[in-house]
Amino acid sequence: MAGAVAFVVVAWWQVPWAPVRGGSPPPVAAESVLTGAEIARAEDYSQWARVWSWTGLAISLAVACWLGFTWSGGQLVTRVRGPWPWRVLVIVILCGLLGRAATLPVAAAGQQLRLDAGLSTQSWPAWALDLLVGLLVSVVAVSLALGAVIGCARRWRRAWPGVAAVVVAVLVMLGSFVYPVLVEPLTNDFRALPDGELRTEILAVADAEGVPVETVLVSDASRRTTTINAYVSGFGSTRRVVLYDTLVGEVDREEVLVVVAHELAHARHDDVLVGSVLGALACAGGVGLLGLLLGRRRGGAVDPASPAVVPRVLALVAVAGVLASPAQSTISRLVETRADVESLAVTEAPDSFVELQRRLTRRSLADPTPPAWSQLWFGSHPTLVERVALAEISPEDSAGG
Ligand SMILES: [Zn+2]
Repeated sequence: MAGAVAFVVVAWWQVPWAPVRGGSPPPVAAESVLTGAEIARAEDYSQWARVWSWTGLAISLAVACWLGFTWSGGQLVTRVRGPWPWRVLVIVILCGLLGRAATLPVAAAGQQLRLDAGLSTQSWPAWALDLLVGLLVSVVAVSLALGAVIGCARRWRRAWPGVAAVVVAVLVMLGSFVYPVLVEPLTNDFRALPDGELRTEILAVADAEGVPVETVLVSDASRRTTTINAYVSGFGSTRRVVLYDTLVGEVDREEVLVVVAHELAHARHDDVLVGSVLGALACAGGVGLLGLLLGRRRGGAVDPASPAVVPRVLALVAVAGVLASPAQSTISRLVETRADVESLAVTEAPDSFVELQRRLTRRSLADPTPPAWSQLWFGSHPTLVERVALAEISPEDSAGG
């Protein structure tokens, strides 16, 4: 209850519920930004990308539910022997491998689609290695979290949800903090943006936005993708602004500064920290809910002190993840809209902003007008037609929004 209440309070206080002063403008027509051929190509690609990602999601949910909610799935884990932490690890690996194997064909179909569209630059072995690294990272993270929950349940037969909620929330914060220094280097190399005109201009934008920036890094994203992007990760001493190398050098300088100003707006508002706190509180609430769902029965698939509970918890987490997705995506879109509004206000270059949005869409083949429920559920950013509309309102209307 405390986790859920704290989530609502932090969300109410820190999420920019009205990121555009005077309300979000109506989206522009896609035809006013892209040519007919560009729209057709983006829609064709996005349609198939949605087919593969949703099929993958449906399969992984089905596997998780089979393992967690059925007798035959439960039988699989009863054969694992050994000390309880070892059994947690083995069962997490088994569930992870089964889920990965079941979704491998659609993951490969998605990769083939990206190769065909010219979005991916990866060889199949490099792609497979990425999947393996991703699986390893998730096995480590999930084993730690579930090990903590089960450990608490073994130690405190009645009070475990309260203790485990705090422990899991701390683990989420810790994970988000170390992610840029522990996990990101597993799949990418980073170098500091070299001294020069771009770096000087970026520091000037940072100064204008009032964000102290120590670290602007360039990642070797081009070994994986032709798309352009940038992001902020970590908080406190691990916070960094990362630019894709595909962005630096080949994109117009003004447009790069628009991207940087957007990322610096995230940094200024500590969006990663707020997102991590919200995630930690949601997980704490989730542990409490788990305590209610599992009850206090001993033995078998619902005993929180037994490693046999792992598939049940994973299934509940998978279902909760899908159900929580619209809330998560909606908060993300609001935060992204605020970063766009501030980028426009700082750079005062609406034409470059629009050109950048056009370039992003052409390069990523993102659907300029995705189906409403797809956008509600999975849209982390406003759509192209919504973002371009932001550039068309006058700066006085949006300043300070
Ligand atoms: Zn952003």
